[in-house]
Amino acid sequence: PRTSLTLLGTGAMGTALGRAWLAAGHPLTVWNRTPERTAALTAEGAVAADSAAAAVAANRLVVACLLDDASVGAALDGADLAGRDLVNLTTGTPADARARAAWAAERGARLLDGGIMAVPPMIGAPGAFVFYSGDPAVFEEHRDTLAVPAGTEYVGADPGLAALHDVALLTGMYGMFAGITSAFALLRETDVAPEEFAPLLVSWLTAMAGQAHGMAGRLASGDYTSDVVSHLAMQVAGSGTLLRTAEEQGTSPELITPFFDLMRRRLADGHGAEDTTGLVELLSTR
Ligand code: NDP
Repeated sequence: PRTSLTLLGTGAMGTALGRAWLAAGHPLTVWNRTPERTAALTAEGAVAADSAAAAVAANRLVVACLLDDASVGAALDGADLAGRDLVNLTTGTPADARARAAWAAERGARLLDGGIMAVPPMIGAPGAFVFYSGDPAVFEEHRDTLAVPAGTEYVGADPGLAALHDVALLTGMYGMFAGITSAFALLRETDVAPEEFAPLLVSWLTAMAGQAHGMAGRLASGDYTSDVVSHLAMQVAGSGTLLRTAEEQGTSPELITPFFDLMRRRLADGHGAEDTTGLVELLSTR
């Protein structure tokens, strides 16, 4: 028999998660603040509870996928969490996750925090995964159930680590989107077809993403000069070409200039033999 579980929140993501558990034969109790939104899952066999407290009472394993951390507190206010394993897949900051873990412990529950690295249509398909952190026993005990909607990546006992990994990946993604946006802008008023340019851009970015491994090695060793193939002095000189090209094409380089500004600062500090690894230090605000 499959583990039965409770799902709090049947929004876009909650519904996708619930559907995967139902399809795999897990008995599922659901609750949503707006009751009508549980209809898609009850049609597929889920049981709707009248209140969050009743939903929590129904199963030891309780998964929450609500809008934000405040909605988790609001939804579970008044529910008896004693003896429950709460898996919180609601997006929040690392500090939110740590505070929520302490909050759960005060109520006799064990908390595992999760950060979902997928959009709803990816749930149940290969490629989707969830970062987990917090109580390792909760992860071990429920890992087979948790692996149904998406792959699992446990990153440590500190409950804040899943959110931190999630945000770090998203931060990398937005930097990439900034570059993609700027690249398409350069070509906008030209005869270059976006559809023909896109595959070139994707293969270049895919090749360049591997630079992260070299940076990781330099960050780990503290020696930012070893194995550097494109040193900062050269890159700063080359950045002028990018800025002038943007001007020629009538586009703003504003998404890229903050990065170039940091490169120039690091070069001015005497680090011309490094690559961009040392910029990490300039971003520290402590
Ligand atoms: P939706 O907006 O579709 O659903 C939000 C859910 O939160 C609904 O169930 C809503 O209930 C509930 N909710 C909001 N406020 C409260 C409250 N004060 N008390 C109780 N319930 C509340 O969002 P998603 O399902 O897409 O997202 C859910 C979580 O998943 C978020 O934390 C999001 O960051 C995360 N996530 C989403 C991704 C996505 O692409 N969609 C990707 C990765 C993570 P009601 O129906 O009553 O409004």
